Amino acid sequence: MIEANRPDLRSWVDVPAGSDFPMQNLPFGIFSTVNRSPRPGVAIGAQILDLRVVAERGLLDGLGCDRSDFAKATLNTFIGRGKKVTRTVRNRLSELLREDSSLAEDAASVLVEQAEATLHLPVQIGDYTDFYSSEDHARNVGKMFRDPDNALLPNWKHIPVGYHGRASSIVVSGTPIKRPHGQTRPNDTEPPIYGPSRLLDFELEMAFVTHPGKPLGDTISTAEADDYIFGLALFNDWSARDIQKWEYVPLGPFLGKNFSSSMSPWIVTLDALEPYRVPGPVQDPEVLPYLAYEGDAHYDVALQVEIIPESGEGKTVCQSNFKHMYWNMHQQLAHHTVNGCNIRSGDVMASGTISGPKPGSFGSMLEISWRGTQPVQMPDGSERKFILDGDTVRIAGFAGGAGRPRIGFGKVDGRVVG
Ligand code: CA
Repeated sequence: MIEANRPDLRSWVDVPAGSDFPMQNLPFGIFSTVNRSPRPGVAIGAQILDLRVVAERGLLDGLGCDRSDFAKATLNTFIGRGKKVTRTVRNRLSELLREDSSLAEDAASVLVEQAEATLHLPVQIGDYTDFYSSEDHARNVGKMFRDPDNALLPNWKHIPVGYHGRASSIVVSGTPIKRPHGQTRPNDTEPPIYGPSRLLDFELEMAFVTHPGKPLGDTISTAEADDYIFGLALFNDWSARDIQKWEYVPLGPFLGKNFSSSMSPWIVTLDALEPYRVPGPVQDPEVLPYLAYEGDAHYDVALQVEIIPESGEGKTVCQSNFKHMYWNMHQQLAHHTVNGCNIRSGDVMASGTISGPKPGSFGSMLEISWRGTQPVQMPDGSERKFILDGDTVRIAGFAGGAGRPRIGFGKVDGRVVG
């Protein structure tokens, strides 16, 4: 077992019951306060451990990283040190936060209240890839737009289908989402029109953040994939369905996707999720050898989506789980690099919409409202087929709980403005 994951560990920092951030989590992010410039931190309970201050005291010396790594406004340099270093640093931070650590005497200088901090996008994202790896989601979309009896395209069970997205418009939780304008064709017998998207949707996803990969031309196998995945965040891949529908033939998603994606501020390390690995579905037909994998490569992370209108009272519209994925991250990374494509520190690879098998577990309004035919009733009496101006979409998720350490992701919020 990874030392920092031991369930019996306790901290000198007060961790409220039910907190997403107990000792066994220690997710990394970038924060600032009135007095502290943007810098790396680790969430613990309702506090943040200031890694710049911890590093300046020499407490992270000799671990394979430099003190200046923790003076940067992104995590790229730290993540760029590779899995061995980030694991060692997390274990060291766990020691420093244990109830017997003398760091407790410096609490006032090394801890910051999360409520007093601004959280920033944790990495500068060079490249963003979006997969399409939930069978239930792909089937639902196939049933709606193609053949209900033959919903999956012929390649779907052979390839983790994906596309290259836009990195520049990925924003941190809390950033307002401006409703995109664009070209749509609402009526198949009329010419296209220009205007605000009327079918704005969320997509419930998780995204993984990479360590540097191998040189261009080399491949990463499924067995090696863990060493190249730093951690995960919650991800809302906002989608303008009407723009997407008109533009996507024949090259795929473009302006219906690239106006914004929202990401949660804390990156939960793959190490912290280690105890929550679970088996994936049986893959039939058998995959090609480069996509075969051994061991448990799926993760049991409970996920939910809430829509909170301006009137205040929200409604949970989806409860799903990351374990529902057909293709896992090992396979996604092996497939992404099988042609020699390289990856860099801080690249983001999103899962694709995570739908479960039953209604109530669908990860987009497209599926929840079944293309607008089954509106959702909101507590204030209004209806939702898609997302309206003033609505906040909130995704939350956690592994564990129920007697096991709760490895939470916090939340990702995005409020749509016109
Ligand atoms: Ca997506």
